Amino acid sequence: MENMYVFYDGKIVPESEVHISIRCKGFNYGLGCFEGIRAYWDDAEKQLYAFRMREHYERLLQSCKTLYINIPYTVEELCQATLDLLKKHNFHSTVYIRPLAFKGSDQIFPTLLDDDNRIVIYCQPLGSFVGKDELRAAFTSWERLGDNMLPPRTKPTAAYLNSGLASLEVVRRGYDEALFLTRNGHVCEGPGENVFMVRKGKLITPPPSDNILEGITRDTVMILAREELGIEVIERSITRTELYAADEVFFSGTAMEVVAVVEVDDRRIGTGQQGPVCRKLKELFFQVATARLKKYADFCMPVY
Ligand code: PMP
Repeated sequence: MENMYVFYDGKIVPESEVHISIRCKGFNYGLGCFEGIRAYWDDAEKQLYAFRMREHYERLLQSCKTLYINIPYTVEELCQATLDLLKKHNFHSTVYIRPLAFKGSDQIFPTLLDDDNRIVIYCQPLGSFVGKDELRAAFTSWERLGDNMLPPRTKPTAAYLNSGLASLEVVRRGYDEALFLTRNGHVCEGPGENVFMVRKGKLITPPPSDNILEGITRDTVMILAREELGIEVIERSITRTELYAADEVFFSGTAMEVVAVVEVDDRRIGTGQQGPVCRKLKELFFQVATARLKKYADFCMPVY
């Protein structure tokens, strides 16, 4: 992108000055992991708030530890670098931030045992990701990766080939978004978002043991459902046809935010329209993300 800055090699530099080798292992073998963070612009307060940024960097450092990508920064230093980067652009709109940690060496073997560990942070304005309030989803025939295969919990770059194949398949068949099943037939998540269902007044979502990424938006939704709506929230395995029988289904994720799924595999969900629980949680989510609910002020780090 033109006229953008990035954090790279410990400094904020013009994006055009960063050159990464075509031989780099991160590029050749997907030896890397990343995060997606949003900072929400509040026009009334004229303030930009980075949403749950600490938790995102805690998750990134945990992923780096698992994958042997040793990044020489603390969570606080990464938060500060991101705040500096956002200030440098003087954004007055909602922004998506992408920290990416990877193996930078150009040795030909895909070993994780090398010391060329790098991190780059870039960003761009991003409004609604899907541009729709109601999605039609379908299960993909591609199986979701397992924890003992390519751990989805670490948000590894290579896992997004699995996500890409799933999206390719269902989007070409005319649906908006894919849903994954695990090897043992449990509902898992979407290519880049977690999934929830409302059934008999309870909010139910797959547990971490079903190979999901433990989403930060998912966590926010669970807190808001319990605390603000007084709804019971249960993490348990869900089967495919149970989703068809749900009163509501919706996705949650940093890029996706909170979006209703009104059809799964050509079966109408509930009334076939965004349901009341999804609508309320979505409203609450945006209030929290723009620091309007003081109880959750800790989730929002002001940039300016
Ligand atoms: N699952 C996958 C596979 C994802 O890529 C994402 C996006 N990071 C999520 C779930 C949602 O996680 P979060 O709410 O932390 O963005």
